[in-house]
Amino acid sequence: MKERILVTRSSMPSLEEYIEEIKGLWDTHWLTNMGVKHKQLENDLAEYMGVPKENLALFVNGHQALECVIEALGLGNELNEKGVRKDEVITTPFTFASTTNAIVRKGLTPVFCDIKRDDYTIDESKIEDLISDRTCAIIPVHVYGNLCAVDKIDSLAQKHNLKVIYDAAHAFAVEKDGVSVARYGDASMFSFHATKVFNTIEGGAICLKDKRFKSKLNDWKNFGITGPETVEYVGGNAKMNEFSAAMGICNLRHLNENILKRKKIVEEYDKKLSGVNGIVVNRGVKEGERGNYAYYPVIFKENVLGFSRDDVFEKLKKNGICARKYFYPLTSTYECYCERFDAKKTPVALEISKQVLTLPLYPELEQGIVDKICDIILGMIE
Ligand SMILES: *Cc1c(COP(=O)(O)O)cnc(C)c1O
Repeated sequence: MKERILVTRSSMPSLEEYIEEIKGLWDTHWLTNMGVKHKQLENDLAEYMGVPKENLALFVNGHQALECVIEALGLGNELNEKGVRKDEVITTPFTFASTTNAIVRKGLTPVFCDIKRDDYTIDESKIEDLISDRTCAIIPVHVYGNLCAVDKIDSLAQKHNLKVIYDAAHAFAVEKDGVSVARYGDASMFSFHATKVFNTIEGGAICLKDKRFKSKLNDWKNFGITGPETVEYVGGNAKMNEFSAAMGICNLRHLNENILKRKKIVEEYDKKLSGVNGIVVNRGVKEGERGNYAYYPVIFKENVLGFSRDDVFEKLKKNGICARKYFYPLTSTYECYCERFDAKKTPVALEISKQVLTLPLYPELEQGIVDKICDIILGMIE
């Protein structure tokens, strides 16, 4: 194969469509700070997701959005009955660096909960044991677009008076019973990074349960400025610019079509790889759910297959195909955490992280390539 196949390929509108969208910016010279494109994308997204626009705020990226909402919801600001700061957040180590880093960067302590074998999301049956008098919140991840056990998590949070922020970076456009994932928890963070199902080049959003926090988020993403001569919060800068918003407006027009193309590719992969002894494909979209087919994670069981995930990774690489060990290593084992956490306490996550490989998936991926990838993998089995 001459051309290298990467694990993903960013969705883009035609050049003509994008130029048409940004033309007006040459008249106004208004490039950022909540301009017309920003406003329009916020409206378009609210409509697409079926949430009020008063509950949605755009950001420069998903990570800043997450840090911002952690602050806006006041995580870590309360003291418990002993006068000790409630600074613990129950979360998953089977995620991208952003989730754990955001918690730690905001001065909070991650408490890692194990994940489930069937969909890799946080194991809701293990959350309650981890709740202490210092716990202030749960930050689960809808990993690969697989929905967490949202009802159980939300009721646990109510029972123990905890905040819930979903890292929904993978879950844009996912719905349950016709309603957006964004309706669960106190807030959900979406990422519109170039590699995600829907992109604004770089970008993100927060969807809030309580719309009163929106003005706080908006002030926070603009240095805490609340008036011409007033700065009320020690905010940062996390605003989405007009060119990104314009990209989002264009990409959103093609999103449903792209999700259908992704679905077809996933079905192709499933046809070839599911049911093979030693190979486990991602759980399908459940009854009542709308999936977004964002990723194609596969588990390779070395004890059954006689070869490892790393062997598959190398074999594909030799054939010009770049899969991704997503997520490996667990965030709890990162060098920057200096062995502060014990990955053996989340044995399922640890095992899955060593077995998982995410295969190439994007709307234009040709069936011939999918076949070739599967043939290479199946050819490794004796
Ligand atoms: C992409 C991603 C983020 C961060 O989003 P950015 O827009 O890249 O800042 C956070 N969490 C998860 C799980 C992600 O995949």
